[in-house]
Amino acid sequence: MTTKAGLPATLHAPVSVRAILLAIVLAVTAGWIGGMEAQVFGLRLHAVYSFVGDLFLNALKMLIVPLVMSAIISGVSSLGDGPHLGRMGGKAVFYYLTTSLLAILTGMLFVNLIQPGLMTSVSLPATGSGTIAAAVEGRGMGDLAAILQRFFPPNIVEAAAEGQMLGLISFSLLFGIFMTRIEKGPADVLRAFWQGVFEVMMRITDLVLKFAPLGVFALVAKVVSESGPDAFAPLAAFMLTVVLALAFHMLVTLPIILRFVGGVSPVRHYRAMFPAILTAFSTASSSATVPVTMDCVEKRAGVSNRTASFVLPLGATVNMDGTALYEGVVVLFIAQLYGVELGLIQQFTVLLLALMTSIGVAGIPAASLVAITLILGSLGLPLEAMGLILAVDRVLDMSRTAVNVLSDSVGAVVIARSEGEPGILGEPPRSRS
Ligand code: ASP
Repeated sequence: MTTKAGLPATLHAPVSVRAILLAIVLAVTAGWIGGMEAQVFGLRLHAVYSFVGDLFLNALKMLIVPLVMSAIISGVSSLGDGPHLGRMGGKAVFYYLTTSLLAILTGMLFVNLIQPGLMTSVSLPATGSGTIAAAVEGRGMGDLAAILQRFFPPNIVEAAAEGQMLGLISFSLLFGIFMTRIEKGPADVLRAFWQGVFEVMMRITDLVLKFAPLGVFALVAKVVSESGPDAFAPLAAFMLTVVLALAFHMLVTLPIILRFVGGVSPVRHYRAMFPAILTAFSTASSSATVPVTMDCVEKRAGVSNRTASFVLPLGATVNMDGTALYEGVVVLFIAQLYGVELGLIQQFTVLLLALMTSIGVAGIPAASLVAITLILGSLGLPLEAMGLILAVDRVLDMSRTAVNVLSDSVGAVVIARSEGEPGILGEPPRSRS
């Protein structure tokens, strides 16, 4: 039996997409009308939104460490450490790099065509503002060497506590690989254990998802009540450039990959991924969305646990198309604002740095601001201009995170199809490539 979306009925996760969409519409209205000060029965609505939104976000975040660890360990140990793992890893890295590169090129094309920096008249901030330092504080990325170092954290518990996903991922990969090299007895026990942990995490995710409309409402209403409509006016051309470029990647590039590389219907894929896209949009965090992405990719798109559990957690940290695109647009926009002409070589530097830093950026809100300061610094552009971007960053963060998560899910589907998996988005299996 299939559903309206053409998905096997059993693959439907318990999420009401309509309810989430309605929640977003209501949230924008309530946030806009109420603003920061609205009260009901003496309670400030903004505080209520904050409280409920944080509860939802925390519920998702609390699942991340056990979910990512158990997913990778059980996924990798079932792949074994032989050619299977190497092949899947190779495909994943190739996919991540190609789509991120395409995304950056799209962003650079749009910003060069529209030239929002020449259309914007704002008073450029003087040097030495503390706002940027405050905004990037705690998003710790450091330089490129520091990114590489984070693959091997000195203390795995500390890495997990700080949400340093790269460390957690490489540790789990090693754990899964070496589980296949120990004696069968203890290896079977470990396999059953991690599989059990994973299944329990997915059940808890289902529970948390039941509250998604409420959580999404609170998160979106909070953002809208804080920023209001006026904040966006001076930077409208810049925002439009970002949104158009993201939309192009989302509605042209990724669907082409789905159709011609994956051989699946993009419309079906988008329908299946809707809850994950909306959760990414409202939380602005790809890491916090991992439980939902896993749920959608496995239950709604029909990708095997083996593939999803390897490709998705890794993708949530490493593969950030929206972020990479955004970095390129912001840097070129700031250069335009200051009247700095960037030549081909400098634009190429931006492209490379955006690609590399998007790999190291954490899947948390506003994380790419750190990467942007790094790129600006290395080109000798003034960091202070970031102050302008901060005012509108949140909404754009929500949008780029949705694209980040969507691209991860496309990667999972395309790789699963190339592995000859049956029943993905209702398609018959292909032979393995
Ligand atoms: N918020 C983004 C994410 O979690 C990262 C960023 O671009 O700031 O995917």
